[in-house]
Amino acid sequence: MYFAIDDTDSRQGMCTTYVGLKVILKLNELGYDIIGYPRLVRLNPNIPWKTRGNGSVVIRFGFGQGRQIKIGEYNGQDIFGKPRERKKEKTKELEIEDILRDIERYFVLDDRNTNPGAVLTSKKLPEWLYWEGVRDVVSVQEIENVLEQHEAKYKKYKLGRGIIGASCGIAWRAKRKTYELLTYLPEEKFSEARWVDAESVKKMDKQIPSTFDNYDYENNYTAIMPNSRTPVLFGIRGTMPEELIKAKDIVKSTSYEAYLIYETNQGSDDHLKRRKIREIREYTSAIVHGNVTSAPKRLRGGHVIFTIADSTGEIECAAYEPTKKFRDVISKLEIGDEVVVYGGVRKEPLTINIEKINIIKAPPVLKKVSNPVCPLCGRKMESIGRGKGYRCRKCGTRASEADAQYTKIERNIEGFYEVPVIARRHLARPLKIIKN
Ligand code: ATP
Repeated sequence: MYFAIDDTDSRQGMCTTYVGLKVILKLNELGYDIIGYPRLVRLNPNIPWKTRGNGSVVIRFGFGQGRQIKIGEYNGQDIFGKPRERKKEKTKELEIEDILRDIERYFVLDDRNTNPGAVLTSKKLPEWLYWEGVRDVVSVQEIENVLEQHEAKYKKYKLGRGIIGASCGIAWRAKRKTYELLTYLPEEKFSEARWVDAESVKKMDKQIPSTFDNYDYENNYTAIMPNSRTPVLFGIRGTMPEELIKAKDIVKSTSYEAYLIYETNQGSDDHLKRRKIREIREYTSAIVHGNVTSAPKRLRGGHVIFTIADSTGEIECAAYEPTKKFRDVISKLEIGDEVVVYGGVRKEPLTINIEKINIIKAPPVLKKVSNPVCPLCGRKMESIGRGKGYRCRKCGTRASEADAQYTKIERNIEGFYEVPVIARRHLARPLKIIKN
């Protein structure tokens, strides 16, 4: 059986992964085993109505078999999952309300933008639904049709938009996955100040190389700590779940009551699809191969904008101010450079918000060092106008642009670059993982 939930929190508080913890405790109480790790499935990062990271929570449960795996702790008690499900025992009589009762109190229903949805199904939902959810915009109606075809039970609160994330999350096949260990404060401390020691985070980052996006050294930013006061104290991402348990013990922080390890599609680049410029639409993400057609401009506010073109069209690309030093390399691009740009598409104007760039060819450029010398009288010639050539002021002899003296400047910028940790999206695959 799969139970999934989404859109339960608001910018002011709570967190769907915390609801996930409560659901796991509830399912254990009802006598079920958790199968594998719970899942935190990130969906289309360009959806305008997301709260923060557009993440949904999926829990597989039933009657398990195989050696227990530790998936977390609550109040000093271990929480376990079993790797496989025993098919014989039926869980079908379970109603969605049996799970949701006592859980609803963690939904922020008074926020206008919070529209929870929960799905309970014994049949796995089709994989295409995941790809639509992570790359495109899906409607509640489309989801309800699929759920009805699969005889799934579901519950919508208010607009019930959460059933979109919940269903697309169930449809994820975990082909490219990482893990995140999340720690949770006790309920009475949710709105209180908390601390995580930055030096211990750097230590953990160095000692456990299978973790990623822990600390932004360039901008002195502790990335494992959420910006808002939610139940989450910190979250450590990595490729090896057992290593995450060691990693959390290195971090010094306010004390917490529980932790949970989620299997996730974070760091997968699943949102990105190779597209021709003509095919690019708002709220999707793209990988585009093209050539720079206008030199980077730094706008007021610090954003750096340039355009690229392929055989089908031209599009604007942006490295926004929060991408900090990443903008320096972008500023070095020249017209004609060959690049592959990775990023999400903003609506107005249609712009690729760059997450990563592969600069394939940035050939040396010629920079003029001086005007040509008149072959007749040996004097420096003067420019007639931009691109129009030169003339000797004394004897009137003419020369072309090519007659000036140039020096070749090597650019040395070819290769992959990514935005710093502080500006990184959950789904973006860090170069640290790509290179390993
Ligand atoms: P948090 O990360 O704090 O848990 P969130 O960023 O996941 O919050 P939600 O509150 O879950 O934000 O809001 C995202 C909403 O968008 C959900 O209702 C979800 O069902 C919906 N949604 C997710 N993916 C898509 C999609 N591809 N098309 C349309 N709606 C989507």
